[in-house]
Amino acid sequence: MSGRVIIVVLGKQGAGKGTQCKRLAESLAIPHVSTGDILRAAVRDQTPLGKEVEGILASGQLVNDELVGRLVAERFAEADAAGGALLDGYPRNHAQAAMLESILGDDGIKLVINLDVASELVAERLSARRVCQECGAIYRDTDIEAISGTCENCGGDVVQRPDDQPEAILKRLATYESDTAPLLDFYAERGLLVTIDGNQTPADVTADIMSAVQDRDLA
Ligand code: AMP
Repeated sequence: MSGRVIIVVLGKQGAGKGTQCKRLAESLAIPHVSTGDILRAAVRDQTPLGKEVEGILASGQLVNDELVGRLVAERFAEADAAGGALLDGYPRNHAQAAMLESILGDDGIKLVINLDVASELVAERLSARRVCQECGAIYRDTDIEAISGTCENCGGDVVQRPDDQPEAILKRLATYESDTAPLLDFYAERGLLVTIDGNQTPADVTADIMSAVQDRDLA
């Protein structure tokens, strides 16, 4: 396969996109580009961007399309993305999908993975989710005592994301249905979409994703 390997991973919040993207990025040796992680790092470091978007992230709303598009274009210009990237959390709506096409030019998207998980399951997963503020490693609330609140990978603080509070979860899932879910048809019409059953164990989900990637000659 020539050209950059650009893979988009779509799915509701809590569908397991972060976990699967980390594994896939390692197997394919391309970076995992999560717009949520980029924005959260800016908030954590209290950069001017972070201060601007902090309230929006906490409420579960979307940051404006131009700003996120700029972040993605800048990230794609970095050396490690020369061979491709796995996009997690972008695009989130039709305007962002159009912007992504213009950022990529002829080097288009090779595959769109839809991680499909039942809504009841994701709400439960999100409220139990805890994350490392430094490296983004994901834990469950029941793990916290065993790890004394510190990340096993990097020693960072493991906390609950402000947008994993019940009110913000509802807002985020509603925005997914209204703004992001329509992209499934958009990419299906282009022959790019593969839907994976995200209700399985993480290892089985990874295996299904890898076979979709191999079917398209991307690995
Ligand atoms: P995520 O980790 O992907 O759930 O993103 C966390 C939050 O970051 C979202 O609720 C939005 O506030 C913001 N965000 C992440 N990606 C985007 C995007 N593509 N467009 C707009 N806002 C985004």
